[in-house]
Amino acid sequence: MFRKILIANRGEIAARVIRTARAMGIGTVAVYSDADAQAIHVTQADEAMHIGPPQPTQSYLNIPKIIAAAKASGAEAIHPGYGFLSENPDFVEACDAAGLTFIGPSATAIRAMGLKDAAKRLMAEAGVPVVPGTDDEAQDAESLSRAAERIGYPVLIKAVAGGGGKGMRLVNDASDFATALSSARNEAAAAFGNDDVLVEKFIANPRHIEFQIFGDGTNAVHLYERDCSLQRRHQKVIEEAPAPGMTPEVRDAMGQAAVRAAVAIGYKGAGTVEFIVDGTDGLRPDRFWFMEMNTRLQVEHPVTEEITGIDLVEWQIRVASGEPLPAAQSDIHISGHAFEARIYAEDVPAGFLPATGTINHLRFPSDARIDSAVAEGDTISPFYDPMIAKLTTHGATRQVALSRLQRALADTDLAGTTTNVGFLHALASQREFVNAQVHTGLIAEHLDELIQIPPTTSQQIAAAALAAIAPDSAHPVTGFSLWTPLRRHVTLNGPDGQVRAEVHFIGHNQTRIVLGDEQHTASWSDGQIQIDGGLIRYHRQARNIWLFGPNDVAFQLDDPLERRQDTNDDSDEVRAPMPGSVQSLSVQPGDSVAEGDVLLVLEAMKMEHGLRAPRDGHIKDVMVAPGDQIAHGALLIRLATGDEA
Ligand code: ADP
Repeated sequence: MFRKILIANRGEIAARVIRTARAMGIGTVAVYSDADAQAIHVTQADEAMHIGPPQPTQSYLNIPKIIAAAKASGAEAIHPGYGFLSENPDFVEACDAAGLTFIGPSATAIRAMGLKDAAKRLMAEAGVPVVPGTDDEAQDAESLSRAAERIGYPVLIKAVAGGGGKGMRLVNDASDFATALSSARNEAAAAFGNDDVLVEKFIANPRHIEFQIFGDGTNAVHLYERDCSLQRRHQKVIEEAPAPGMTPEVRDAMGQAAVRAAVAIGYKGAGTVEFIVDGTDGLRPDRFWFMEMNTRLQVEHPVTEEITGIDLVEWQIRVASGEPLPAAQSDIHISGHAFEARIYAEDVPAGFLPATGTINHLRFPSDARIDSAVAEGDTISPFYDPMIAKLTTHGATRQVALSRLQRALADTDLAGTTTNVGFLHALASQREFVNAQVHTGLIAEHLDELIQIPPTTSQQIAAAALAAIAPDSAHPVTGFSLWTPLRRHVTLNGPDGQVRAEVHFIGHNQTRIVLGDEQHTASWSDGQIQIDGGLIRYHRQARNIWLFGPNDVAFQLDDPLERRQDTNDDSDEVRAPMPGSVQSLSVQPGDSVAEGDVLLVLEAMKMEHGLRAPRDGHIKDVMVAPGDQIAHGALLIRLATGDEA
């Protein structure tokens, strides 16, 4: 067994690997960029090595730096986590050449599954059902569109080097094929440097069901399935295990196909075989097809750990150190049901834009599994994936696990950045999902209802008013004292605009709060308001008040002075609406532009956003260059004002 391993990753997955390594008595080495000097994974490891500036290409993706850190620290093996270098065969070879064990599959196995078209061919040869589609077709538009006719619409165009849903287009009709092809190709070329695509049948009523497999290089087993059908733009949002409606017959057929896939490439370590399933008439043994194999641990592995009781990271480390598979198929059983929700710093109503900010208050429920990437006081930086935490619940039945998920989301208190927690709560309570009628289009079909922010209640407004002025341990006498009138007017800015309340102090820790014609009685304790018999948790920082519950609400105590300064017209400035990186610039100082011209393309959250001129005019300054990482609100371009032009 290894004595020390290095984790070539950051955030929650690095912390996750450290937890198991420590339990196994193995020393851990974290690596970190300038942006992560105080990050959670650094504080949890036994040692930490600095590897460079925040840009991933200069730190977490920099193979020589990571190998050098491993050698200098005396680590014998490297765990890659997921993302970053986890599926990079060159990295595996660099580890081999440096005499370090890569905790994962061989470079050959990763390459075999690296391109979707080659992987599909290989799987078809191994007797695994694959989605009907192009097979070695020429890449010209005519050949591909002929293939689409043969396959039958609707079809899906996919980048062969694809990942994260990029370079993927659904085409319902032959007349749209050419446009979709060229836009898929452009996206694929920009993202992967490879614009080859495949065309395959779009499966009706699609469900995404994947099998966790595990190999030791010769033999393989599966650890049952996960249903990852709840997706937004082909990205997983909530995962569960086992799959709703799974039957022993279908599980057998899919599990055997997954194990065949692993054995066919001599797979060593943890991997996932993803299938697309036609859910039209429930699950059937002849209605699933191989999509791709992920040659790493997955983000959603906790749901498998919860139902099998197996620590997948422990298995990875044991198998990498030369042990055979820790259990035979007949010894692997499942119990109950599990859900995982991914909590992100993102602004859902604004179109799921990634958000930044400093987390100044963070409380997770104690009865859920939390794989967290951040701690109170951390800043969500624009450099990395804005995932804050994964919340996993387990229960004897699906219904129990799901109500635990709903409650855990309601009990997650997070202030300082916008998050998707309210959206996840709405999704976890959505009727079709609750009834286990999952399919990949569910979120898109119900998006309006899922992102709707429920109106603020009068209790919430009253609670916010009291929270804004209530004494707490940090400000023991703010607001009330026996010598001043026992009544205060509070003006708050909330989601529905400005509101006014009158707080009457009517006894020891007793208030009456008047909102127009309505009245509430309330009392307070640190972090909690009791109002009309109910409880609302809150956090206050300076003039900001956050209320927590199934739907968190933020208020600001109104400051009339600031309001007056807030009126400058910023039509001379183009600022970043979200954190991201500058992909391209189409102007330079002196250029004249018309309102609506695209000035700059920002890449954020795996999408491109064109930023446009706010008015006609001339470019005065350009503050950024292609490749720059920028924070939310950063000034990018300034237009010349009237007298400068
Ligand atoms: P990526 O590697 O970009 O994530 P995948 O091949 O894993 O792409 O597909 C991502 C998602 O797209 C799947 O989870 C599924 O929801 C959908 N999808 C992929 N292939 C098909 C198909 N043939 N029919 C219907 N939906 C599909």
